[in-house]
Amino acid sequence: MAQADVLVVGAGLAGLSAALAAREQGASVMVLERAPREERGGNSRFSIGAMRAVYSGVDDIETLTGDLGAQLRSSVDFGAYTREDYLGDMARVTGRRTDPELARILVDGSTDCMRWLSAKGVRFRPLTQWQFKQADGRIKFAGGSAVGIDGAGAGLAEAMFAAIERSGATIAYGTRAAALIGSEGGITGVRARQVIRKQAARDGSRSIDIAAKSVVLATGGFEANPEWRTRYLGPGWELAKVRGSRFNTGDGLRMALEVGAMPAGNWSGCHSASWDLGAPDVNELPLGAVFKRDDFLYGIMVNARGERFVDEGADIRALTYAKMGRAILAQPGQVAWQVFDNKAAGLLHDEYRAPPSSCRRAGTLTELASDLDGIDRDRFLATVEGFNRAVRRDVPFDPGKKDGRSTAGLDVPKSNWAATIDEPPFTAYPVTCGITFTFGGVRIDQSAQVVDVDGAAIPGLYAAGEMIGGLFYFNYPGGAGLMSAAVFGRLAGRCAALAALQGS
Ligand SMILES: Cc1cc2nc3c(=O)[nH]c(=O)nc-3n(C[C@H](O)[C@H](O)[C@H](O)COP(=O)(O)OP(=O)(O)OC[C@H]3O[C@@H](n4cnc5c(N)ncnc54)[C@H](O)[C@@H]3O)c2cc1C
Repeated sequence: MAQADVLVVGAGLAGLSAALAAREQGASVMVLERAPREERGGNSRFSIGAMRAVYSGVDDIETLTGDLGAQLRSSVDFGAYTREDYLGDMARVTGRRTDPELARILVDGSTDCMRWLSAKGVRFRPLTQWQFKQADGRIKFAGGSAVGIDGAGAGLAEAMFAAIERSGATIAYGTRAAALIGSEGGITGVRARQVIRKQAARDGSRSIDIAAKSVVLATGGFEANPEWRTRYLGPGWELAKVRGSRFNTGDGLRMALEVGAMPAGNWSGCHSASWDLGAPDVNELPLGAVFKRDDFLYGIMVNARGERFVDEGADIRALTYAKMGRAILAQPGQVAWQVFDNKAAGLLHDEYRAPPSSCRRAGTLTELASDLDGIDRDRFLATVEGFNRAVRRDVPFDPGKKDGRSTAGLDVPKSNWAATIDEPPFTAYPVTCGITFTFGGVRIDQSAQVVDVDGAAIPGLYAAGEMIGGLFYFNYPGGAGLMSAAVFGRLAGRCAALAALQGS
């Protein structure tokens, strides 16, 4: 039987961080990954690579990115993002439900973990494209996700898998963990199904058992499982499009619950964003995040009744985009249109111009309305007219900050960046709900050890990444997903290795 001190299940950022941290302690490490090698890397590989960490100024950024150069240093105001800012954002966007201890571990581990990833070979760059653009061309950072991974998710995967190879950990691809093996004394291994590749014959599979002193579960959430989505998130969620990996179907969660793990967190909640209606039901790696439609701030969103249904300018994008998918899913047909006029055209990000876009364009609003399949055209035109009338003219429009330019007197207000939609050409982008990851998970303690329904740590069982419950509720601050995967993955790997080596 194969064996390892630490067996890590899942090769996304959480699992790979766990494997590297366990190797640092001198433990032997094996990683099981359900995907074939070509599709390895989980949601982490699909990500944009934004990472939310505490930093005290430009020098902290430069430590991660390398020399920024005089030009960038003088044209960008990087500001700072303190521990209190981060904890405050976590509390605010989660309706003050985030587990304070988990939030503290995330926030206090963030800066050091960025340096650790950098030492492992992950390269960072300043994340200038999602910040406030000033009228004079300067950029002012909005706080939070100040750096991103060079090469986004693909760059992350390349660097992390190279580090794994250097570390001496082994990875078994095409190997789907199916059940935890254990006894009264704790978890002692994993039963898995492994794909066998035969020459000139159809693939088969076999059952294998792997013995381990500690097991780290890092298999993501259940976002790619339509039946579980309906079961836990509610009716209609089977119709959401999956923004990331097709392999995250809740296996690790099921396995943990089967051995008595305590469920924790927002099981009916998830991260879901505005996503191009033409995107495939489940995303594919070469397409990446081209279907992202997060510039709703600069226009309006209308449903098939021709009505607005959400405050598009409630806050900065990083603090609102992760709940837009849910708002769209609740609309008739799970569809909405993002509508912009010529004034907004220059503010839209590149993906709005990328080939798969199903953009509609017209010289008049009436022509645009006739091109929006299934919309109540008269109501749509009345909505735009009413919106234009409600835009406050006494506050200047300023995409360089949260400008307070709101609407007045509308049932559904727009709180910032309200601008009339009256300058042709007009564009409309049909969007739907794209699910990113689920928030429900298992309870862990301060060592990332899984806790059972009676509150006792389960010997030999650890969890990290999307699998942990209690961190995110209702919403999420952008960049905290990768950070959580790295911080808790690293913690789980270190603690799992220490426990394994103490026991040997
Ligand atoms: C399009 C998109 C963009 C994103 N952009 C950002 C961003 O810019 N910033 C940010 O912070 N977050 C972002 N996220 C979220 C972020 O990617 C996740 O929060 C994070 O990557 C989760 O890491 P993880 O290791 O827990 O899960 P994953 O990276 O999903 O890894 C889970 C792994 O487990 C494997 N697995 C599943 N079941 C089994 C099994 N039974 N046996 C063995 N292996 C199994 C899967 O194949 C997968 O490799 C984005 C997500 C998406 C989809």
